[in-house]
Amino acid sequence: MTRNSIPMESDPDSLDIQSLPVEVANQIAHEVETIYQWIDEQIRFYSISDEEGCLACGKCCDFETYDHRLFVTTPELVYFLTHIGLDNLRAMTSGICPYLDNGKCSIHVHRFAGCRIYLCKNTLSSQLQGQFSEESIRRFKAICHIHDLPYRYCDLKTALNQLTKGRPGN
Ligand code: SF4
Ligand code: SF4
Repeated sequence: MTRNSIPMESDPDSLDIQSLPVEVANQIAHEVETIYQWIDEQIRFYSISDEEGCLACGKCCDFETYDHRLFVTTPELVYFLTHIGLDNLRAMTSGICPYLDNGKCSIHVHRFAGCRIYLCKNTLSSQLQGQFSEESIRRFKAICHIHDLPYRYCDLKTALNQLTKGRPGN
């Protein structure tokens, strides 16, 4: 089970996003935010009720136990860094997302596309989830094209460990 079903195109050694000029990073972050808003609107539109939507129980954020993987894209990582800051970057040292604190997502507002699209219940068919993933990926790739940013698609653990490599405390 994966939260995004697009084939992986990963080159974890090339996540060179920390050297982007601030204004470029901010613009990319803004464009990513509009994609997240679009995803949230789609989820709201197609979900039957709040009770049947995501209850934010955190179970699927324990990837190993839940048999899950979360894939992220380069523009999302730019958005992520822009909003949470370098000092809040966490390496992933287990099968659990490091941003899961006491069973809750500590970065809920800024969570990734895959976190937004995946619903463990059948209220959103896997076909729709696949469509939302594919459309999101198409839009993330367009951002890369516009800003001449290398497109990468890699699992969260690889991405976080690459970004935190060499940083104090990691
Ligand atoms: S998708 Fe399901 S398992 Fe994951 S946090 Fe939401 S309710 Fe929990
Ligand atoms: S970012 Fe939040 S929602 Fe996504 S896997 Fe991590 S803790 Fe879960």
